[in-house]
Amino acid sequence: MTDTDLVQFRTLIEKEIEEILSRMPFLREEAKGNPYSCSIGKVSWMDSQNDKGISEQLLRESKLRLEKLRNAQMRIGNGTYGSCIRCGNPIAPGRLKIVPEALLCIVCAEKKK
Ligand SMILES: [Zn+2]
Repeated sequence: MTDTDLVQFRTLIEKEIEEILSRMPFLREEAKGNPYSCSIGKVSWMDSQNDKGISEQLLRESKLRLEKLRNAQMRIGNGTYGSCIRCGNPIAPGRLKIVPEALLCIVCAEKKK
């Protein structure tokens, strides 16, 4: 992993974090649900409950991802970013481009399954 790569991944991670943060308030509102918006009858009430469930799940996933991305930022800071936490081998840059918060190399990730 070169310094240029690191800068690139740091930017990528920052962008992802920003995107999640900008989505959070909306998801939070949705996850709360709005009891006053369902005066149209049972079907739409069920719809809104359903949406609420999806939003809650999305919110949970976003928080989890945010944590992982912050962790990746930390690892960039202390110089351990891009190394597999299990075997210590470098994680392929192609993999990090898709999953910048990846902790495992592709081999260990496959074994985990
Ligand atoms: Zn590994």
